Amino acid sequence: MNYKVYNWQLKRQMDYKYPDNRPKKQVAWVFDTNKCIACQTCTLACKNAWTSGKGQEYMWWNNVESKPWGFYPLGWDVRLLEKLGPQDWKGDKYIGKTIFESAPEGEEVLGITPEVVEWVYPNIGEDEVSSIIHNKDYIKIPQQPWMFYLQRICNHCTYPGCLAACPRKSIYKRQEDGIVLIDQERCRGYQECVQGCPYKKSMFRPHTQKSEKCISCYPAVEKGMQTQCVINCIGKIRLFGFKGRYGSPREDNPIDYLIHFKKIALPLYPQFGTEPNVYYIPPINVPHAFNQQLFGPGSKKSVESYKKAVEDKRLIGLLMLFGATDLIIDSFDVKGGINDGFCIGYNDKGEEIVRVPLKEPVIIRKEYDEERDVRRVSIT
Ligand code: SF4
Ligand code: SF4
Repeated sequence: MNYKVYNWQLKRQMDYKYPDNRPKKQVAWVFDTNKCIACQTCTLACKNAWTSGKGQEYMWWNNVESKPWGFYPLGWDVRLLEKLGPQDWKGDKYIGKTIFESAPEGEEVLGITPEVVEWVYPNIGEDEVSSIIHNKDYIKIPQQPWMFYLQRICNHCTYPGCLAACPRKSIYKRQEDGIVLIDQERCRGYQECVQGCPYKKSMFRPHTQKSEKCISCYPAVEKGMQTQCVINCIGKIRLFGFKGRYGSPREDNPIDYLIHFKKIALPLYPQFGTEPNVYYIPPINVPHAFNQQLFGPGSKKSVESYKKAVEDKRLIGLLMLFGATDLIIDSFDVKGGINDGFCIGYNDKGEEIVRVPLKEPVIIRKEYDEERDVRRVSIT
């Protein structure tokens, strides 16, 4: 039997195996795709922390793939999208079917199971652009052909596909923070979760014959720290925190502000129906149709707002807070003008934990340094 639950990303009720049971708090991430340099520091930080054991060699709980040709595992999204059919939106309401509503008879979720070989090339398609570059082509703005980097972790979904698919009830979503975990004692390795996760973020460990997934660095999160993939990010493209209470987002909450007030951070493939809790600022150099396919109907407006961020003190300030502290920021404020102001982050006790300038100071040095008798290539 299925229950009717409300999915705010689809603006409608949908079928799900279990009744609505939103956690008291919900972890969430925002990734700014425009700033990622694909250095894979996040990927290695996660691997060093959690998946360096036997049977975990192929596991990348965090991966960064180049779109449109990068996939980990191979074809993870296009294969499912093909099965699901074209996405059907009426304005910002999704009127097509989710993976739960399209499940075959006797199954909970429409899914795919990758072959072992499809997991072994996590960097396939890296840096490949959308179409062939011909002789004498030059760079055009916006870039043609285009590509961008898509950062991926488990979405700690509100309606997880992995959880619905598990026949052992080994997967649970914590009430205190919304983190989705697999109970290693209960798991028997049936791999239904591997098939049922549309993002392919539940993985099977042959060494233990059990499935494993991202645990949202919960020992650190419980101590008020952001996750490893966030605090190690070189490009400072990531922000981690808690969403405000469901139904009453707070304008001073950094995550809520980007998702619900500026509407600049969007879920990946919302039509799957899991209500994922990783949100993306879409790339500005990519054709609108492709962005819409990945991030839904809000993508055009999001790109327009991002391009105008320089006129918006609060938005610029908040973007500057990404990667500025290891601690979880509960609220933020902006003080002063665009040229001399600051953005301040506070913890959940209201104490200041970080302060960044709205405009980074730029120092220009002389091209020729008389004192050292050297010429500088880089002067800023
Ligand atoms: S992304 Fe996949 S593994 Fe993570 S909670 Fe959602 S369905 Fe489960
Ligand atoms: S560490 Fe940051 S910049 Fe580097 S690949 Fe990961 S998300 Fe991108």
